[in-house]
Parts: sequence; C-alpha cells; structure tokens
Amino acid sequence: MIPLTVIGGFLGAGKTTLVNHLLATGGKRWGVLVNDFGAINVDAALIAASDGQTMALTNGCVCCNMGDDLGDGLAAMAARIPPPEHVIVEASGVGDPWRIAQMALIEPGFTLEPLVVLVDATALPAQLDDHWTGDTVARQLAFAEIVVITKIDLADAAQLAMVHARIAQLRPQARVIETAHASLPETALGFTPPARPPASRFQADEITHAFPTQRIAADQPFDRDRLRWVLGMLPASVLRLKGVCLLGTDRVLLQYAAERWAFSPAPNGLANGLVAIGTPQMPDLELLFSEAR
Ligand SMILES: [Zn+2]
Repeated sequence: MIPLTVIGGFLGAGKTTLVNHLLATGGKRWGVLVNDFGAINVDAALIAASDGQTMALTNGCVCCNMGDDLGDGLAAMAARIPPPEHVIVEASGVGDPWRIAQMALIEPGFTLEPLVVLVDATALPAQLDDHWTGDTVARQLAFAEIVVITKIDLADAAQLAMVHARIAQLRPQARVIETAHASLPETALGFTPPARPPASRFQADEITHAFPTQRIAADQPFDRDRLRWVLGMLPASVLRLKGVCLLGTDRVLLQYAAERWAFSPAPNGLANGLVAIGTPQMPDLELLFSEAR
C-alpha cells in the first residue's frame, strides 16, 4: 500500500511551494499528481521533481469532473517500477480536497494520510466572508486533518488570532500548524488523524465551481511600469493569476493572489501565457492587460 497525501487549499495559499519543500527535503521516491485550474499547467512546471515523478491532471478540476483523470493518474503511479514510496495529490485551488481523497481511495493500492489544507493568514477571514468564495473555502476546511496557516510573516497578531478563531469554529479537530513560507518538514504531516466519517456520506454531493477562467496572451512584451499599474488596479474578483510573460526582454513568472504579486525567473518548459481564475464578476482581462503592452 502506498501512502497518499491530498494537499488542498484555496487559490494562492502556497500548495505548490509546500509540495516542492516536501520533495526537496523528504528523501523519498515521491510521485506527484497536480490538478491546476487553467489551460496552462503552471504548477506542474514549478514542481521540481525529476523526470517522470510529476503528472499534470489536465481535464479540469478532478473533484467535480466525472472523468477519471485522477484514477488513471493514480493507476499509472502505482504501475511504475519501482513504485513511488509516497504519492501527493495537489488539489486545484477551488477543489474539495476531501472529495478528491474519497475518489482517490476508489483506486486500489493506496492508504490515505492526513488530509492537509493550506490557508493564507492574510486572506482567510475575507475569503470565508466573501459571497463568491466563502462556501468553497469552508468546504475545503470541513474535513481538514492538518490545517497549515501560511504567510504568517505577512499577518499581524490580530489577523493571526482571527484566522485561528475561524479555523477553530469550522474544524476544531484539526491540527493547526503555522508557517511563513509553506516550508514544513515531512514529519509534521505524519500523525494519526481523528476518526473519519464514512466515505459514502459524501459520494452523492453535487459540486460545481462558479469560478470562470481566462487566458491572457503574453507573446508581446509588457512594459514593466504599466504592468505593475494594471496589477495594482485588478479588482478583488480576480482571485489568482499566473504564468510566464515578457517584461521587456526578460522572461518572468508572474504569480498573483490575494491582491499581491511577485515576479521570478521563468521555469524551463513553460510557454508564454497567463491564466486567471476569478469570480463571475471578473472583468475582461485581455482588454485590461492590453493597457500594459
Ligand atoms: Zn472541483
């Protein structure tokens, strides 16, 4: 039996960073399945596994897609010779990680490790209170066994206390861990979770995510100052934006979440292009970003 860890959490909470940290420090033969939201598999490209250890699940969010992307991916992982010693499934930022865990257990050969859900210390209360995102974030936490509060370096004491209070309200059984950069030792994930509810209770749940995605062309270079101006103007309806673009002559990876953004060197093997996900109120981003060229 191969241990299986499902890592969930809302858009931009730090899931890919955590996966990379586990891979870099865990000293195991890992297998990673990544379920990204957009047309470009940014997260899979960012996971620094050696060849063949990372697979992208590309046919939409696996928790609500009735296709068998997840089952096929797990079967392929289990069939590897030698098989991975531990498999991680990185859920999409809008996905329901408990539902994904239940679906994964249909595949023979895996045992479910504690369910890990990441929350952004600076954004969780607002996400829970938001009309568009509240249900999704609460559902992600509902069966969390380990809750990892990320970005604590960006939150003040009052914000952090509020985040703990909201988690305690929604999921008092969970073990709660704080981190600045989603860098946790593998040992933090290994503990015996509380008794789990029977799986059958959730099979009939119907889920749809009301989060549209958009793709923004990035073949033409952006002007650095104008791009910063556009990013600074993005409304809260833009939940997450990421991908590779040109800033003048530099190819950079742009990551945007919770109204903050960062540029870093573009990884190899990722074509130019930006993907965004937001609420139904998200404006036409192609039009907005044309102002930055
Ligand atoms: Zn889903």
